Amino acid sequence: MKTQIAVRNIRLCTKDCLCLYVCPTGASDTENSIIDTEKCIGCGACAQACPSKAISMVPLEYPPQQKKDDQVVALSNRLAINKAKQEKIARQLAESAENDEVYRLMSAISKSVRLVNEDLLRESGYMLPQSKNAHDLLQEWIASPPTDQFPSEAAKKLLSMIPTNEKTVKWKCSICGYIYEGDHLPDDFSCPICYQPASAFNKIEE
Ligand code: SF4
Ligand code: SF4
Repeated sequence: MKTQIAVRNIRLCTKDCLCLYVCPTGASDTENSIIDTEKCIGCGACAQACPSKAISMVPLEYPPQQKKDDQVVALSNRLAINKAKQEKIARQLAESAENDEVYRLMSAISKSVRLVNEDLLRESGYMLPQSKNAHDLLQEWIASPPTDQFPSEAAKKLLSMIPTNEKTVKWKCSICGYIYEGDHLPDDFSCPICYQPASAFNKIEE
């Protein structure tokens, strides 16, 4: 059974093309430079052959994230919200800058604040799309989009493609089949697809 697939870092790829010669399935020979995950059998020959170390083998299933202390998560979330505000202010200042120095300084500050924020979000358990936290957040945003531009359809597709690596209780809408994942189905929940109330959902016993 396939347990890993090859992923090419396009920024490191120097187009030596050795991977194309060693790949037994043609998975690395694509027009957009993204290795074809359907064709890849995870043999690792390309990663070994690549002189630029541009190919990594990544597992198909990640182990569950380490449990975080609730206080650490709460503090990280609070800090992350503040960092997001700081990044927004720095970006606005960069956009309204009247000279190049201020523009570059504010752009650098907004980027560095974002890097710190990514670490904070990782600490809060939101980094892996397979994590339950990330799934719960996406479910919440699909049910109640945070902005008008939120890409709900893309979020639904992402959820359907990437399973969680932590055990969750699932609830299925008896009308349209939409699956809600979470320890508890909120009483005021309504199906984001067919708008049925929580009473239309049945717990899936696995
Ligand atoms: S062998 Fe490495 S550097 Fe060459 S094309 Fe493949 S990924 Fe790029
Ligand atoms: S891991 Fe094997 S099958 Fe997959 S792209 Fe690399 S050489 Fe091809």
